[in-house]
Amino acid sequence: MSLYRLIANFVLRHRAAYATSAVMLVAIAVLLVWIPRQIGHVVDGLVANRLPRDALLHELGWLLGAGAAVYFLRVGWRLRLYAASYRIGVELRERLYARLSLQGASFYQDQRTGNLMALATNDIDAVEMAAGEAMLAGFDGSLTLVLVVGTMSLGVDWRLAAFAILPFPLMALGFARISRHVHEASRLSLERFGALNDHVQETLAGVRTVRALGLQARSEAQFVQLAAHASQASLAAQQWEAAYEPAVGFTFATATALALGVGSWLVWHGQLTVGQLTSFSLYLGQLIWPMFAAGWVLSLLERGKAAWGRLEPVLEAPLSVDDHGTVPRVSPGPIVLDRVQFRYGEAARPALDGVSLQLAPGRTLGLVGPTGAGKSTLLRLLLRHQAPAAGVLRWNEVPLPQYTLDALRAAIAWVPQEAFLFSASVAENIALARPDATRAEIEHVARLAAVHEDIQRLPRGYDTPVGERGVTLSGGQRQRVAIARALLADAPLLLLDDALSAVDTDTEARILAHLREARVGRTVVIVSHRLSAVADADHVVVLREGRVAEQGTHAALVAGQGWYARQWRYQQLQASLDAD
Ligand code: ATP
Repeated sequence: MSLYRLIANFVLRHRAAYATSAVMLVAIAVLLVWIPRQIGHVVDGLVANRLPRDALLHELGWLLGAGAAVYFLRVGWRLRLYAASYRIGVELRERLYARLSLQGASFYQDQRTGNLMALATNDIDAVEMAAGEAMLAGFDGSLTLVLVVGTMSLGVDWRLAAFAILPFPLMALGFARISRHVHEASRLSLERFGALNDHVQETLAGVRTVRALGLQARSEAQFVQLAAHASQASLAAQQWEAAYEPAVGFTFATATALALGVGSWLVWHGQLTVGQLTSFSLYLGQLIWPMFAAGWVLSLLERGKAAWGRLEPVLEAPLSVDDHGTVPRVSPGPIVLDRVQFRYGEAARPALDGVSLQLAPGRTLGLVGPTGAGKSTLLRLLLRHQAPAAGVLRWNEVPLPQYTLDALRAAIAWVPQEAFLFSASVAENIALARPDATRAEIEHVARLAAVHEDIQRLPRGYDTPVGERGVTLSGGQRQRVAIARALLADAPLLLLDDALSAVDTDTEARILAHLREARVGRTVVIVSHRLSAVADADHVVVLREGRVAEQGTHAALVAGQGWYARQWRYQQLQASLDAD
């Protein structure tokens, strides 16, 4: 959809606001034509001495009223218009946010966060200006142009008017050329602002790493370079916009010269009075505003088009995982993976290659294997963050895409490798999926996740703010808060993606024991590098290079000769060395 279609649709939907603004502008234009005529009328009356005191006061009262009306109408149209055009910004931001929250992992792999933030602010502002200022300046300028050219041709002399507007098409050609440059420069300026934003966002998110590695100077130098690039592009856009003004000046000077030349000839031949020529040149002066308005409108539209060119692909980007399912609830049942294959983008080898497995409800599956074996990928497919290239995943005999995404995600509690805490209290972070949970419920799950004592030691207990603007929790504490959050969600399937890696073995054992007690009916998948975490699982699967390499109970695998047995012996040896 082009920017013009977007704006036209918007104007149509908010036609009442735009129409009242336009009516107010017409009223202002009429009053502005009426006021000078009325003043002339009063002056003529005074000069001819035929305006008694009462009549004069009466006339002055009308003039004052008209002046006040112009003032209120001007305030009125701006309020009406900006309230409407501000809505397009709100609507676009809502659309962008909704789209971004539906997008899956592969979309974010190609997008830079800082640039997405720039789209939500800078670019949407530019579209908002095009839908607001540009529309009304365009309307006002055209209205003035029609009124003034009409008055010049009908009220003074059409031949003179025709000559005076001869340079206008030339100006239009010049404007078209300038507009192309404004468009290109604006696009570059918005893009570079996005890159600058991205650098700031990434540096602030990774500020500890930047400091720890002593990268401040390098990061600052990059910032200075990106900022210089952004300001150069912005300056270039403004320089091209500034080119409209001399074009207006040149056109006006040429039009005046033509009008005076032809006008003098007409006066010379007695076809025009000097008074008429004078009022004609005054009218000509009134054409400056429509000319400036044209330049202003074009530059706003070009900026808007450049911004829309960046926004539209993100708003229209196909969802990496569709949500066409209709089954609104997941009923308990076995989870089956049938010859599932998956490859990330252009990766040389698949991350999962013909994986088949079954998981009965209420059972625990241990998923282990060397790093990069595809364990997290398998969980992402269960969550439908990604879709398999081949094969099928079923839950209770229904293929996953047939569930609505809401149903599926409500049925799964997932603790990712990197637990993310929002800027809120610990209690709010735990109650993320169930904001209505009572304090007793929150404390119960915190106890199950063995984090209750840690929380009590925080300055304000469960009310301590954490996340970016609060107390920093240790990696192990963060993991346990995330486990408590998942337990509170009380979903039938719990996925723990190496979620105990930052806690010591004793705490791990405590949490696993609590999970066993609390998991009545709940299916659990535990991904872990530490095999002790899956020793009590009902079934253990070893993934290697995306394939199922071994599977069985812990006891059976330990008794074998494979990777699991070797890894188990190695980890046991290490644990006994650590204990010494
Ligand atoms: P770890 O134990 O280290 O967490 P894992 O077994 O969970 O590893 P995955 O994260 O599933 O392994 O990764 C499997 C393979 O897919 C690896 O080769 C990895 O490099 C690749 N991979 C993972 N995520 C992506 C991604 N977003 N884009 C491209 N390749 C990816």
